Amino acid sequence: MNSIPLDVQAAEEHLMRFLAVEGVTGEEAAIGQAVVEELKKIGVPASAIRFDTVHERIPLPTQTGNLYVDIPGNRPGPRLLFSTHLDTVPLCAGAKAKREGDKIVSDGTTALGGDNRTGCAVLVSLVETLLKHNLPHPPITLLFTVREESGLHGARELKPEDLKDAAMCFNVDGKLASELIIGAVGQENWDVEITGKAAHAGVAPEKGISATLVASIALTEAHRGGWFGKVTKPHGKGTSNPGIFGGKPGKPAGDATNVVTDYVHIVGEARSPELTFATEICQAYRAAFAKAQAEVTDAGGAKADVKFTSKPSYPPFNLPADSPAAARAIKAVESLGLKPITIFSNGGLDANWLVKHGVPTVTIGAGQYEIHTIKEYIDLPEFAQGCRLAILLATLDF
Ligand SMILES: [Zn+2]
Repeated sequence: MNSIPLDVQAAEEHLMRFLAVEGVTGEEAAIGQAVVEELKKIGVPASAIRFDTVHERIPLPTQTGNLYVDIPGNRPGPRLLFSTHLDTVPLCAGAKAKREGDKIVSDGTTALGGDNRTGCAVLVSLVETLLKHNLPHPPITLLFTVREESGLHGARELKPEDLKDAAMCFNVDGKLASELIIGAVGQENWDVEITGKAAHAGVAPEKGISATLVASIALTEAHRGGWFGKVTKPHGKGTSNPGIFGGKPGKPAGDATNVVTDYVHIVGEARSPELTFATEICQAYRAAFAKAQAEVTDAGGAKADVKFTSKPSYPPFNLPADSPAAARAIKAVESLGLKPITIFSNGGLDANWLVKHGVPTVTIGAGQYEIHTIKEYIDLPEFAQGCRLAILLATLDF
């Protein structure tokens, strides 16, 4: 769209600047400062920039709080929130970004960090364009979250009043500008510790209680019951996965072939568009472990000790396509000359928590591809489309 006055070169320079700053999840101080410096360079006054104290509430070591920027409106209208996350996955540590034609790639030994430095650059480029061309827009707040990649913590533990009653949010954290994520699953995590009894596996295995056998029967039971992997039941659908199967921290389950394994620790998850169904999946695992516990005994009839716990991780959400936030996003994509595609995500996003905090949120893309892998790259034309989309979302009189 030629009518959108995006300075593509300036936007790409912001992006390269942010990609050069390391900031894996929990270690966002340097990238936070880099974003602040870039904001000041484009004319945002220091008084408009603030950090919260979310890092004091996040239950993991975190260097800094979420970064907020408040831009006064120059026309009336409800406040719009634009969000993105500052952190990258640990695989991005030491990334060396370089341009290859229309792409930005890493040197192939690390991931790149386009997830989510594209988002940081989109938000800065948005404000730069609004200020430079004095485009009419309602009040805007920018939110740059911390620890998205390690549990959506910045968005989860923020104080809703810091969102300043924003009517809706556009979260930049995806691939294509035309793909609008308007809903996502919720997740519940489960954890089981099985304590059996060690015995010499060659001399007297019948005196032992194998925690590995209890675990194996339980997982088989979950599988046979249709609760393992993709779950499709008449009253709900979802997924589950026992992701970590091991022993004491850093140890395998068992450490010698001649000893009956006395301890197994499994950590798993369940996801569903309905949190109640994610809970039901977890309860099916709980029942499977109880059944396996009853089945496995030593010669004297003793059973393993099984401690199963589960807890919600993040809530699901689903915005109707005709809700104001989704409708605005659809209109903006159409104004870009693209065909909007609305998507329901099978993974959690900061949007899950922003919706929970009362701000309907649509997640848009800005050119990040093959994220969380060493093949990660940024498609620059798609990044520019993401910037243009953000400008339209901010300025549409709709
Ligand atoms: Zn991301």
